[in-house]
Amino acid sequence: MISFIVLLGPPGAGKGTQAKLISDKLGVPHISTGDILREAVRNDSPLGRQAKAIMDRGELVPDQLLVDIIVERLSRADCANGFLLDGYPRNISQSQTLEKVCAEHAIWDKVRALEITVPDEEIVDRLKNRRSCPSCGAVYNVVSNPPKRAETCDSCSAKLQLRDDDREETVRQRLNVYHERTEPVVGYFAERDKHIVVKGEGSPEDIFAAIMEKLR
Ligand code: AMP
Repeated sequence: MISFIVLLGPPGAGKGTQAKLISDKLGVPHISTGDILREAVRNDSPLGRQAKAIMDRGELVPDQLLVDIIVERLSRADCANGFLLDGYPRNISQSQTLEKVCAEHAIWDKVRALEITVPDEEIVDRLKNRRSCPSCGAVYNVVSNPPKRAETCDSCSAKLQLRDDDREETVRQRLNVYHERTEPVVGYFAERDKHIVVKGEGSPEDIFAAIMEKLR
């Protein structure tokens, strides 16, 4: 079973949802650079202060802000048997950083990129209906996966939010950034025979089953 996994796919492809299912099933840590950055913004840390305006515009934060975080996180003991990386790498330079740190830990041979594909128009529809819990990180969709009480998190009762970067114009900008900067990352892994692809349409359970089949 493949257990060193880089999740690729446009924003709103269901990476967060699938990442949680995969990491629970395989018992590997779920490492999301978007979550790390959002937490830094909430804590108003120096990293958060540098990242917030860039994230609100739907652009990528400078590579340098994430290098130390990734190197440190992948060096922890809990990554020795696998990891699920969600949101990193986002460009070729980050792919090279990842290759270097994984090679140093002698795990690069085991790393695979799992790409979840979804058409752009479906993404825009999904994200404007997405609501996120600022407290525990749970994610809902007001149409396809609504919370039990309107705008309220089922797990921790916090008031749900539309992420600043899930507004339609920002979603379109994030999709542009994805096509220009992150799609080449798919090629980076494909050229190295490390690319796996699944369609991200259908129920989360069916997509998860298809993923598990491919990771075997
Ligand atoms: P995500 O939750 O993965 O969609 O990330 C939300 C936002 O955080 C992105 O639109 C970027 O502004 C920023 N971000 C997350 N991961 C990265 C990364 N690897 N490189 C640059 N920016 C990132």
